[in-house]
Amino acid sequence: MTLSRQRIAILGGGPGGYEAALVAAQLGAEVIVVDSDGLGGACVLTDCVPSKSLIETSNAMTLLNRAGGLGIATGGLATVNATRLYERITDLARAQSRDITARVAAEGVTVITGHGRLAGPGMVRAGQAEIKADAILVATGAMPRVLPGAEPDGERIVTWRQLYDLTELPRDLIVVGSGVTGAEFASAYQALGSRVTLVSSRDRVLPHEDEDAASHIEEVFRRRGMTVLGRSRALSVRRDEDGDGVVVTLDDGRALTGSHCLLTVGMIPRTEGCGLDEAGVKVDARGFIEVDRVSRTSVPGVYAAGDCTGVQMLASVAAMQGRIAMWHALGEAVHPIRLDHVAATIFTDPEIATVGLTQRAVTAGEVSARVLKLPLATNPRAKMAGVTDGFVKLLSSPGTGVILGGVVVAPRASELILAVSIAVEQRLTVEQLAQTFSVYPSLSGSVTEAARKLMEFTPDIP
Ligand SMILES: Cc1cc2nc3c(=O)[nH]c(=O)nc-3n(C[C@H](O)[C@H](O)[C@H](O)COP(=O)(O)OP(=O)(O)OC[C@H]3O[C@@H](n4cnc5c(N)ncnc54)[C@H](O)[C@@H]3O)c2cc1C
Repeated sequence: MTLSRQRIAILGGGPGGYEAALVAAQLGAEVIVVDSDGLGGACVLTDCVPSKSLIETSNAMTLLNRAGGLGIATGGLATVNATRLYERITDLARAQSRDITARVAAEGVTVITGHGRLAGPGMVRAGQAEIKADAILVATGAMPRVLPGAEPDGERIVTWRQLYDLTELPRDLIVVGSGVTGAEFASAYQALGSRVTLVSSRDRVLPHEDEDAASHIEEVFRRRGMTVLGRSRALSVRRDEDGDGVVVTLDDGRALTGSHCLLTVGMIPRTEGCGLDEAGVKVDARGFIEVDRVSRTSVPGVYAAGDCTGVQMLASVAAMQGRIAMWHALGEAVHPIRLDHVAATIFTDPEIATVGLTQRAVTAGEVSARVLKLPLATNPRAKMAGVTDGFVKLLSSPGTGVILGGVVVAPRASELILAVSIAVEQRLTVEQLAQTFSVYPSLSGSVTEAARKLMEFTPDIP
């Protein structure tokens, strides 16, 4: 006897939700996705995809403005057509959302547009529709945190989700918050031609990232003319008296003025009205849904994935949590998620890509490792391209030589990190990486060279 076809209900059509839907459909389940804002989610429509599209333009500007040094006469500084830029970004995002909608439909997934909520055991409600399901996945994402006294108005005081509605490039942009999102936008707008002030409440930008990489990028920011204010907390943000600028008041009493303020002070889970309380789904002190490593919540049959769990706010992690939930719910063999091998990139210029063990863990004495940092400036391809900033860092086990982690700071570090990622995942040794051919000349040559240097000698970090 075979079991009847399983029915899966998914709240949210971002990477956590739609990737889960594809897996569940592939496994033969009947799948219903309830989504309020468009498939692809905030990832595709307002966050990851638009920001990376903007950064592609800022990268092109960086190249253009460096062209003189490469022997190209451009006849002056390139400038940005903001309307065209933002149109391109929103068009791209919508097209990507349409592609995902078509893909999901082709797999036979039913999509209901609307706000969904848990409505009793094994039940989801979306408007008038009641969906009975064998398993439910909550993947409703997160939204920008708002500071009291610094409420966005969508015109001059904005979150990153409102940037693409602007009609001009901010002349004088104050970015509040120096985490990944703040650093990426500060870097991009600086390259696009805005005067940028980055307000960081911590000692340095990117406080949670590799210290060498963060200090390096801060130095690059300052060298390019950005004002970086460390240990400065924004207390309030308001429009100036004329209404065509902003005033940001800091906790030390200073008042910064600019044309626009971008708020990047974190995310809160988007779970209000989802019926979690009534269903008994446990959330943590900040409201994120508690899940285990196979995406189970505290309620049997209810899974959660992505930003609403606050596990690691990356599209790749959301998608993996969603897939794992479906494999688990539908009785497939499943490996619990491993967060220590997640490759991630901060898309500043240069980019900062990381994978595996961090130097912070080594310094804290949690793991012993050999660490080698190789500046990119000596790389022949970097010299040809006029690239002087960046480095490759590898961390290896002192006993076995197995590569445990790495950091790449370079143009397109997001691509270069794959070699280190494979090494970490496959437990390759420095010798194996060192003996691997890299192209001459190439930036990836610095990855194999770092491995060769790590074979020679490096002092153990206590
Ligand atoms: C500026 C920025 C840049 C980023 N860049 C990157 C990057 O380069 N790489 C990377 O890996 N990650 C990046 N991220 C993170 C990435 O965007 C998120 O991790 C990802 O969007 C999480 O996916 P999700 O499915 O959990 O949620 P979302 O993408 O937020 O999707 C959730 C969906 O659920 C819907 N929804 C919400 N509530 C309900 C409800 N009650 N009923 C029905 N539908 C509902 C929403 O409308 C939305 O469509 C970035 C984030 C930001 C803010």
